[in-house]
Amino acid sequence: QVRVRFAPSPTGPLHIGGARSALFNYLLARRTGGQFIVRIEDTDLERSSRESEENILDSLAWLGITWDEGVRVGGPHAPYRQTERLNTYRDAADKLIAAGKAYRCYCSEEELEAERQAFSEKGELPRYSGKCRCLTPDDEQRYQAEGRRPVLRFRVPDEGAVVIDDQVRGQVTFECEGIGDFIIVKSDGIPTYNFAVVIDDALMDITHVVRGEEHLSNTPRQVLIYEALGLKQPRFAHVSLILGKDRSKMSKRHGSTSVVAYQSQGYLPEALINFLVLLGWSPAGEEEIFSLEALCEQFSLERVAKSPAVFDADKLNWLNGMYIRQAAPERIRDLALPFLIEAGYVPAEPDEVMVQKVGLMVQAIQEKLVNLGEVTTMAPLFFGETVQFESEEAKAVLAEEQVPVVLQAFLQKLTDGRALEPGTIKAIFKEIGKETKHTGRKVFMPVRVALTGQMHGPELHFLIPALGSHVAEVRVRTTAA
Ligand code: GLU
Repeated sequence: QVRVRFAPSPTGPLHIGGARSALFNYLLARRTGGQFIVRIEDTDLERSSRESEENILDSLAWLGITWDEGVRVGGPHAPYRQTERLNTYRDAADKLIAAGKAYRCYCSEEELEAERQAFSEKGELPRYSGKCRCLTPDDEQRYQAEGRRPVLRFRVPDEGAVVIDDQVRGQVTFECEGIGDFIIVKSDGIPTYNFAVVIDDALMDITHVVRGEEHLSNTPRQVLIYEALGLKQPRFAHVSLILGKDRSKMSKRHGSTSVVAYQSQGYLPEALINFLVLLGWSPAGEEEIFSLEALCEQFSLERVAKSPAVFDADKLNWLNGMYIRQAAPERIRDLALPFLIEAGYVPAEPDEVMVQKVGLMVQAIQEKLVNLGEVTTMAPLFFGETVQFESEEAKAVLAEEQVPVVLQAFLQKLTDGRALEPGTIKAIFKEIGKETKHTGRKVFMPVRVALTGQMHGPELHFLIPALGSHVAEVRVRTTAA
């Protein structure tokens, strides 16, 4: 039974890298019929917040990533928030002390800094010297009388190595010598990440730890704790870093880094899922388009690459445009409404007529949208009576000789009382053709320019019903005046 987890530290919004880790774990659980757990690692009290936790969980939910156990849903290993599990860590720490595998360290920050300096001067990697390893009870009493409060350090074996058989990276070896006795409980009694993560993964029966490569260097410390406590180790899989197109570490310069930013720019969750899975995983065949359901059947760690993934914003845009084109128009309309409300084009509680208008607008532009946020850039085409000419060339269209007759005929049909629908618009253009003996571009282009000021744009049979006869009439009368 595969049991995997996503264990975010709630120190900021869910970012792309975290979302990818969550997705890979989720897919591994679904593919194998296993369980997916979401645990909150909030032992960094200063940097953790409930707000970040909510953001992370909301973003997961928005992406369609669900979990079987964890915060919000509960489960047999509750609580799933580390600050609510402090007793558990205390018990484990006591065991380590009793076995001589952990010890109290009273070194002050200044003393540690001096040690680090000394190591650096010798050209060695700075690490803790082990100075407090052999304190006598008297030493401890003296330190405590001085008001020093100890941290708990893990006693790293002096010799030997930790070998990790990583499912993505293969065998990775860390010499114990370079590790240094590390802190497992801080002076305020709160465990560090490296300690709490081991206790929780073991107690929650986690079988596979799939996480970002930035944690690879933590893994030997965690393995040593598993060994010291006689706990069963999970398999590890460290997924490569995400780099920008210029091969530097992904940052805001390369595009938004948080999931919620993509949500608020109008990306669809299925596009982001499809994009995220390709950041490291590669499908067996040529096909690159995958729904979450399809991925649940196909995903495997064997096809996760060791090399860094490159974040390509153009690819995300391409995927998003494709998913928007495929989506039901009603869904795109409903998703577009908040953007139009926010931008002031649509009232906060739109009536039926307005919703219908937005529906027609969306039909007119759905093919072209890269993200839903763009509806606001296109909104001036559909809202308001004023028209701006995009160019002299566009203006010149209205000076062509057939224009007055064509627009006259158009206005007459526009206002003859028939319901404006895509079908009637097509009929109207046929009739104009018959009556004026002008067809094709000579009819369409003046109408288009008169209505929008532009020579390109949405299909007229969607645009005109979306404008409605009144606005269309006013626009034609003012532009052609
Ligand atoms: N809390 C860690 C983080 O957010 C989780 C690392 C892990 O998966 O072990 O980076």
